[in-house]
Amino acid sequence: MVVRDISNLKKFLGEIRNCVIWNGNNFEKFTKLDYLEAKKCKDCGMISTNPHLTEEGLLEYYQNYLTDRLSNDDPKEKILLEQRKFAYLVDRDWIFKFIDHGKVLDVGCSGGQFLNTFDPKQWDRLGVDVSQEDADFAKNEYGIEVKVGFLPEMHFDESFDLVMLRGVIEHISKPIEFLQKCYELLKPGGYLFITAAPVGDSFAFDVYREKWVLYNPVEHLHFFTVNLLDSKLLEFGLTLIDSHYQYQETPYANPQNDFKKIREDIVLIASGHDDQIKTSVPFPGSMLTAVWQKKD
Ligand SMILES: [Zn+2]
Repeated sequence: MVVRDISNLKKFLGEIRNCVIWNGNNFEKFTKLDYLEAKKCKDCGMISTNPHLTEEGLLEYYQNYLTDRLSNDDPKEKILLEQRKFAYLVDRDWIFKFIDHGKVLDVGCSGGQFLNTFDPKQWDRLGVDVSQEDADFAKNEYGIEVKVGFLPEMHFDESFDLVMLRGVIEHISKPIEFLQKCYELLKPGGYLFITAAPVGDSFAFDVYREKWVLYNPVEHLHFFTVNLLDSKLLEFGLTLIDSHYQYQETPYANPQNDFKKIREDIVLIASGHDDQIKTSVPFPGSMLTAVWQKKD
């Protein structure tokens, strides 16, 4: 992860918002990092960074995000990039169990890296992203078309067999609007694939709180669970087909070390020595992968 100083962004802190699931405002503090607090909804359990940065603050933060990543010479960052490439294939192969050809829309596709793992002989590929720079990269590097804009406000002449959000839903300020639009863009019988999203009811988050590696509250605004997503998507007319928590098959997993570390860290936390913990380890149940289908 590219560690960035966020103190200059404090001026962009927005207002406290109601829960994205059922619009309630009955919260308890879950954790806090710097000036950004995660609140848990007492009604439904949804955890969100609340308040989070305004759109203006997020734009400021994401400026040059991809360039920074790709031009980063830190060898650790290079390893992460390689691991991510492998993780793309794990995700792709999981969704291919349900659908392996057709028209695909990758929402928040960044530079098209994930979409590029979809064979153009089998797939008619299109991406959407807010960044023109990323769209240009996808076009030049992979020949993938990317529409630039804010999805809920965009017009499409076509509908899709597969709409996917990979590592995206947690970044979106108003995620339910996005999901509604994704639903509208699906053909009858089409699939919505949500993957690589940090999970609000994960054991590691509960243990590590602000030290959980996926608790990056500038970028990660919402921590969904499969059940909470399903409760909204069911309203739109989507049926949950399958869900999964990737761990064992990812390049990040090292069960022997990870389980030992979390066991030791729980002892440290329980004895008030959590200052000795720098960050969390990968652990099962931390990232969700799920697929829904639109009714025929
Ligand atoms: Zn709620």
